[in-house]
Amino acid sequence: MSFDELGLSDKVLQAVTASGYTQPTPIQEQAIPHILGRRDVLGIAQTGTGKTAAFTLPMLTMLETGRARARMPRTLILEPTRELAAQVQENFERYGVNQKLSVALLIGGVSFGDQDVKITRGVDVLIATPGRLLDHFERGKLLLTGVELLVIDEADRMLDMGFIPDIERIVKLTPFTRQTLFFSATMPPEIQRLSDAFLSNPVQIEV
Ligand code: AMP
Repeated sequence: MSFDELGLSDKVLQAVTASGYTQPTPIQEQAIPHILGRRDVLGIAQTGTGKTAAFTLPMLTMLETGRARARMPRTLILEPTRELAAQVQENFERYGVNQKLSVALLIGGVSFGDQDVKITRGVDVLIATPGRLLDHFERGKLLLTGVELLVIDEADRMLDMGFIPDIERIVKLTPFTRQTLFFSATMPPEIQRLSDAFLSNPVQIEV
């Protein structure tokens, strides 16, 4: 299968070509059409499978349509560590090079100042670690009521790091009508319980 057949926008396809990718990986081939069809997805996949592009490429395509109310964040990606969040941001910027989107990286270890300025100006996409996202929320700077697409990445690592209560709080701050993508390398019972709670009639993909 080729990237052209997945339903991605022209701008996104141009960025994929510029990245040197010639063929979608199995998770990309299986997940992208369902994500574009607005289905919830449970992806059981390790890092290195092309999972980041599997959710960022359709997200970028989706962001070309519709408009945020007052530029509230339309999409939220949760990552367990600063490093992973920064990596996702790099990927997002690369694949989104042909679009004018505002992306904020909300991670610990950096001052609130720049992140606050960005949020106040309006962002389309938040890429965050759970603790820092909640810090912003508690400071009254952030509303998640415009989130259309939520990605919970590396859920089993979130569990290992004790982030599940934070994730549960964050999910409750987003609209019930959102689309949710949930990725984990393994599916222990606690992660299965969460995926049951957060996802609605999901497509399950295992690579
Ligand atoms: P990930 O699993 O998202 O961490 O991606 C692993 C690596 O594969 C990253 O360095 C990506 O740039 C690369 N990659 C993702 N999709 C493709 C593709 N379709 N063809 C070639 N490389 C890819």
